[in-house]
Amino acid sequence: MGTLNRREMLQWSTACGLGAMMGESGSSNLASAAGSPSMAATPGESPIKTRMFWTWDHSTEWALNRPGAHTIGSCNEYGRTEDAFVNDYTALLRWCGRHNIDAVVVWGLLRDCHGGLEAAKRLCDVAAKERVRLLCGVGLNAYGGVYYEGSSPYNLERHLEAHPELYAVDASGNSINFSIDAMGNKTILGNTSTPGPRGFYHACPSRRENQDFAAESLAWLFKNLQLGGVQIESGDTGVCECKQCRDRRKHPVSSFSWEDMALMYPLAADAVRSVAPDAWVVCETYSHPQPCSDPNEAPGFGGGKPAWADAALAEFPRGVFVQWVCDRFLREKSTEQTWTAEGRVSGTERRHIMRAHFGTYWGWGGFRGELAVEWIAKMVQQSAVAGFDAVSLFGEVSPFHTGAELNYLALADFGSASNSKADFDAFVQQVAAPLLGGVDHARDYFRFAGLLDARFPDDRKLLPQALTSIHSRLASLPPDAARRWCWLANQLASFIYS
Ligand SMILES: [Zn+2]
Repeated sequence: MGTLNRREMLQWSTACGLGAMMGESGSSNLASAAGSPSMAATPGESPIKTRMFWTWDHSTEWALNRPGAHTIGSCNEYGRTEDAFVNDYTALLRWCGRHNIDAVVVWGLLRDCHGGLEAAKRLCDVAAKERVRLLCGVGLNAYGGVYYEGSSPYNLERHLEAHPELYAVDASGNSINFSIDAMGNKTILGNTSTPGPRGFYHACPSRRENQDFAAESLAWLFKNLQLGGVQIESGDTGVCECKQCRDRRKHPVSSFSWEDMALMYPLAADAVRSVAPDAWVVCETYSHPQPCSDPNEAPGFGGGKPAWADAALAEFPRGVFVQWVCDRFLREKSTEQTWTAEGRVSGTERRHIMRAHFGTYWGWGGFRGELAVEWIAKMVQQSAVAGFDAVSLFGEVSPFHTGAELNYLALADFGSASNSKADFDAFVQQVAAPLLGGVDHARDYFRFAGLLDARFPDDRKLLPQALTSIHSRLASLPPDAARRWCWLANQLASFIYS
């Protein structure tokens, strides 16, 4: 705790005057915007049993003061060193071990440029020591396959290069491979892999050779690495529309296909379990469980569940985690995107994990490292009511950045025995206050951070006053609390710097 007693802190808080000014316009807007669901859990219960981080190797930056990390993106080239890769994930896994995060998904786990299998083995050892499950992200028809980038025979691009007849194609038989630049400009590629910036290459899921390749690759992966599991995806950057695929499917597709998931996930899970029966298998749906109102709608990423999804889900293997995404139903909430009782999931045969893109540049008005604790509370509250017992967040940013630190601690706290109802104020008092100099300081911290909420641009007019208030309290705070306040001060100042 800090050197100030409660009376002194109240005086400081009152002196700045911002609390009263911001009462109607700061982050408290979230409560009225997102509703107030009631949770079935009673104090002492733990509705959330499992917590995960989701990461891309190229954007993970836990070893500080080293160059080369991306701040957004998937399938980017890797710009850091092998040493940085191992240190990034060693720090991340150790933090998870100390803070009750159960698993970490790594996309790009296996690349020649950051040490391949040997570097991954070192991380498996760290994970085992920390009792955290390390999960390899694996695209079954896309995203490089098991061995994300390199000369390995278990790299999907090498497999397709050797067998060009197995590429996915559009309805006219043309390649659907592409590259995309930092501005989002898409260039269609031929069937040949090109060196960096990385392209997106797709395999036809109907071809038996590709199914066998996915299964053999997964078996190889678990024979060679002591992993905690795998997160598998069928691909959401293009769908094969060859005659075989079109004849197989009965329903429309968007950038992904539920029927492709139903085809690929069972054979992938069988391959994993043949080697590692206790491995966790997380199956991505790219979707939210709220049913679509239009029976013919095939929503894109983050949209609701189409009419034929339940039949596909019934094909998913028993005992897997089914992974969903909720951003559009929280940050873009509208009458068409309201999570109702129809959007419940059943945990009898499969577990369900909800994830969101808070604290990243992945759309929905957020930014990397933002303080998103109130959003996380809503996510956990609504997920628990809907039958979820697992949640996942991006974990790419070091907790040196206080926004990320508090988000991660909220992930650990919400839905646990000590905060079963995911109560925001309980988190502020029990978890945030000791880190920020006391309860009143902590409440100010969240109000000031809430000034950056993109939905309320006028709030940013209050940033200069918030900075004055922050600067005036720094000298009285303990060093670690002052460091966390400095982080916020600079974060706020960066939005008005010119
Ligand atoms: Zn096909």
